[in-house]
Amino acid sequence: MIPVEDRHSPYALPVLETFYSIQGEGLNTGKAAYFIRMGGCDMGCRWCDSKEAWNWVPESWTTVEVLVAGIVKSKANSVVVTGGEPLLYDLGLLTQQCHKHNLKLYLETSGAHKLSGTWDWICLSPKPQKEPLAEFYSLASELKVIIYDKHKDFIWAEKMADRVNKDCALLLQPEWSRFNETKPWVVDYVKKHPKWRVSVQTHKYLRIP
Ligand code: SF4
Repeated sequence: MIPVEDRHSPYALPVLETFYSIQGEGLNTGKAAYFIRMGGCDMGCRWCDSKEAWNWVPESWTTVEVLVAGIVKSKANSVVVTGGEPLLYDLGLLTQQCHKHNLKLYLETSGAHKLSGTWDWICLSPKPQKEPLAEFYSLASELKVIIYDKHKDFIWAEKMADRVNKDCALLLQPEWSRFNETKPWVVDYVKKHPKWRVSVQTHKYLRIP
C-alpha cells in the first residue's frame, strides 16, 4: 500500500477486489483467470452490476508489487483487469510486471479513456454515453455489447461493429437483470444476423464471482 499523496502513479492502483475464478463471459468463457477489479467509473450505466466500483476510494492504493505477488501465488496463468473502468489509471507498469511472469493479460474496457499497458486481449464493451476513442477500434479483440433496450442497443451494436477491425469477434450479451426479456431478443437477433454471437454471463449460473 502507498500513502494518499503518492497516488496517480503507475506504482499503485485503486483495487476494489482480486479473486481467482473462471472467465464467465465473452469469447474466453470457461478459462481460469485471476481478476483485478479496479475502482472508479464515470459511465453510470443504469444496469451496471458493479455499482460499488463507481466511487470506490480506498484509503490506500495497492502497489503493483503486491498485486503481482498475489497473482503469482494463485498459480493463475492469465489475468483479467476489469472495473469499474481500468483505463482511468496508468496500467503500464502492471502489464510490464505481469508479462515478466509470462502471464496472459486481458483487458475489459469501455474504450472511453486512453489506452495504457500492453495486452494480449482487449474486450471493448462500448457505452453510448461516452463513445470509445478511435484507437480501440483497431485494437479490439472482441466487441461485447450489452443488450438492455430492444431497439436502441442493437442500433448501437451495429454502429460499433461497423467501426471495429475485421478480426474482432462480435458478441451481444443479454443484460442479466432483465434476462427473461433480453435473452429472446438477442437469440432472435443473432439468428437473423449470424456475424454476431451470444455471450452469456455463465459465472452467474455457476454462482461464482
Ligand atoms: S462502464 Fe461498466 S463499470 Fe462502468 S457503469 Fe457501465 S457497466 Fe458499470
